Amino acid sequence: MAASVSASRPALRIAVLGCGVVGTQVVRLLTQQGADLAARAGAPLELVGVAVRDAGAPRDGVDPALLTTDAEALVERADIVIELMGGIEPARALILRAVAAGASVVTANKALLAVDGPTLYAAAEAAGVDLYFEAAVAGSIPLVRPVRESLAGDRIRRVLGIVNGTTNYVLDQMATAGLDLDRAVEQAQHLGYAEADPTADIEGFDAAAKAAILASLAFHTRVPLEAVHREGITGITADDVAWAGRTGHVVKLLAIAERTDAGVSVRVHPALVPASHPLSGVHGAFNAVFVEAEAAGELMFYGRGAGGAPTASAVLGDVVSAARHRVHGGLGPVESTYADLPVLPASAAVTRYQVRLDVADRPGVLAQVSAVLAEHGVSIEAVRQAPRLIDPPDGDARRAPAPSLAHLVITTHAATDAALSATVAAIAELDSVTRVVSVLRVEGA
Ligand code: NAP
Repeated sequence: MAASVSASRPALRIAVLGCGVVGTQVVRLLTQQGADLAARAGAPLELVGVAVRDAGAPRDGVDPALLTTDAEALVERADIVIELMGGIEPARALILRAVAAGASVVTANKALLAVDGPTLYAAAEAAGVDLYFEAAVAGSIPLVRPVRESLAGDRIRRVLGIVNGTTNYVLDQMATAGLDLDRAVEQAQHLGYAEADPTADIEGFDAAAKAAILASLAFHTRVPLEAVHREGITGITADDVAWAGRTGHVVKLLAIAERTDAGVSVRVHPALVPASHPLSGVHGAFNAVFVEAEAAGELMFYGRGAGGAPTASAVLGDVVSAARHRVHGGLGPVESTYADLPVLPASAAVTRYQVRLDVADRPGVLAQVSAVLAEHGVSIEAVRQAPRLIDPPDGDARRAPAPSLAHLVITTHAATDAALSATVAAIAELDSVTRVVSVLRVEGA
């Protein structure tokens, strides 16, 4: 019944910009599931063209007659434009052109939205068309819609997310297979989880773009990409990961958006997550986002954050929503910035830390270190002392205790980033401290 009603309506013309990892899967699903999508959308969806750079390259399952290199002309003859080219330009210009021509837009382009989302949102709102971007934040995981719509009646306090599958895979391999960072990255590249140039992932750029988008939605406040404090995982050693395990944690690259009395703090950095926290059980290239809301309490969204077919699922969900609006009228949510909260600098972020030090193995050292912490107003939650194991000489499989050195593992109570940095600098000056081995935040406790 629904299918016949939808079939009687004029078709909605769909243009796809980009036919790579995601675009190919979107085209495949649009073609294979046309009848179901038409029934759900309320009208047939007619694929009118697919813009690429090289129209001569073979594309699995894509009718070559649909391929074009003239993306500008294509967007002018579409009701819904699906942007899957990536990058800033020409994606931005094409989206603006599509919107100006009255088309609704679906995009997965987190980089563009993080850099210039407000321009695009404003253009779409002015033109009275939808701009949907579910796939831009966590691939297949429904997150944008729950945050914008399902939780619109609540107050989100904090979002903690594993939003980059590459880094999660790398850290997971370090923890479970004992690999060092370089080997784990190589393995991720071998399996197709990491690009040949993995910088965007391992330096946290990809997660930062997602954090900016997510924080803006969660707190009804524009969070520019430059306001997101970003640290990648390149400083994480096998030793950090091993000590995390010994102290009941796992290392994860987290995107964190937090609302405090002073404003909004948004950051991406590696952190120790307690083994009891649900995010600690997110393995491999999976993503998960943990949301804490005032009334709803704790929610977790889990699934595949990347990959052609998973991402295409989120894209097509948006296409169906946009299509329904074109059939029945109405618009999806527009940008909401009414709260306009101050976006805080990284130095104001308050969290617990774990500091590992190599110190002289003699009485009184702990008292000296504790005194420096106290002077800076940073209180200690726990201290653990262990013999310092040194790397074995070549050919010797055993790690041996270093003579006269001890290893101090100090977990602090919550402190500001600024207070902790000053404390660590002062600790490093102590005669009895040989080396500050690592400083990692502890999140999700
Ligand atoms: P991709 O494999 O690199 O594909 C990009 C496509 O865009 C290619 O078909 C390319 O054409 C086309 N293209 C690029 N520049 C163009 C231009 N100037 N004119 C016409 N066509 C152009 O990218 P992808 O991995 O599918 O990602 C697409 C978007 O989805 C990005 O914004 C990405 O961040 C987002 N996303 C991807 C994933 C994922 O798992 N891959 C997950 C979530 C979100 P040619 O084929 O001719 O070179």
